[in-house]
Amino acid sequence: MVRDFDIKTWFKSRAGLLIISGPCSVESEQQLLDTASGLSKIPSVKVLRGGIWKPRTRPDAFEGIGEIGLGWMREAKERFGFLTMTEVATPEHVELAIENGIDILWVGARTVVNPFSVQELANSLKGNDIPVFVKNPIAPDVKLWLGAVERLESAGLKYLGAIHRGFSSYDESPYRNAPLWEIPIELNRLRPDIPIVTDVSHICGCRELLQDTAQKALDLATNGFMIESHCNPDAALTDGKQQITPENLNILINQFVIRLKNVNSDEEKLKIFREEIDKIDDEILNLLAKRMNVSDKIGVYKKEHGLTVLQIDRWKQVLEDHINKGVKLGLNEGSVKEIFEIIHKDSIGRQL
Ligand code: PEP
Ligand code: MN
Repeated sequence: MVRDFDIKTWFKSRAGLLIISGPCSVESEQQLLDTASGLSKIPSVKVLRGGIWKPRTRPDAFEGIGEIGLGWMREAKERFGFLTMTEVATPEHVELAIENGIDILWVGARTVVNPFSVQELANSLKGNDIPVFVKNPIAPDVKLWLGAVERLESAGLKYLGAIHRGFSSYDESPYRNAPLWEIPIELNRLRPDIPIVTDVSHICGCRELLQDTAQKALDLATNGFMIESHCNPDAALTDGKQQITPENLNILINQFVIRLKNVNSDEEKLKIFREEIDKIDDEILNLLAKRMNVSDKIGVYKKEHGLTVLQIDRWKQVLEDHINKGVKLGLNEGSVKEIFEIIHKDSIGRQL
């Protein structure tokens, strides 16, 4: 069976969501083929993912089935017509994956944090035009993410994408990996030519959050999804809590609400609101500049009168007043606090 999907054309057109699914880890021939068979009933799934070499946090965990699984990936590809995709972390993985007909590669979040590893991968991929997706590094660092893309680009790779899989954090959160949406948005601003696919499975870490998180990604104009699926998620050797059956994946996809990415010029109302917002932002900037100007004068005064730049009691009072006032105006307490902390930090910096 042929799914008739050309990934290189998709990179150029970005027509439709790119939906990648398959098990976190390839565990056995039966598990992979059963999962792939279920996925083959969902027309929008074009790419079958399967982890062959697994980067595990602890050393006693299942570290992937290894090379033998590549043969099963080929079998699934031939039977069901999917393109296949796996994670590579070393030049040896690259060689084996390509030799065994894997169509697309991804670089994992733990590898992307290490520029030496990424460079080795880039060197081993020189002269190849296989599509490669770069997951965000586990640390919330857009430059590190971009740097990995650039290393692969310098090796001549032309079909490069990014995968947003969330970020490690020590804070309490319902997510396994905090989405920090502003980071993929920033990557998109810096490199609009690089499509971004959302790996909701690794962001959520559990099934319950998948639908809402995927919808959020859709509303932020994602280019596609990577969603882990397994014929029997509860028996999965890795990431069992976040994997779903192909049947549930179908339900999840059918509930997507797709909204327009680009606004037609005749959508006058939105245009008017946006003009209003632009004007307000302009005012905010002018006011900020004005505030810094006064702050500079205060800085000179403090120096001339032997006063410390930081006047902690005054700052505490100011912050408390602003938060109270902000909350009364219907603003979010945490956001008001953060905004004024940034403004204050900047003021202090200028006075030093
Ligand atoms: C995976 O996709 O199974 C995986 C290991 O991902 P990440 O690199 O995002 O942890
Ligand atoms: Mn996984």
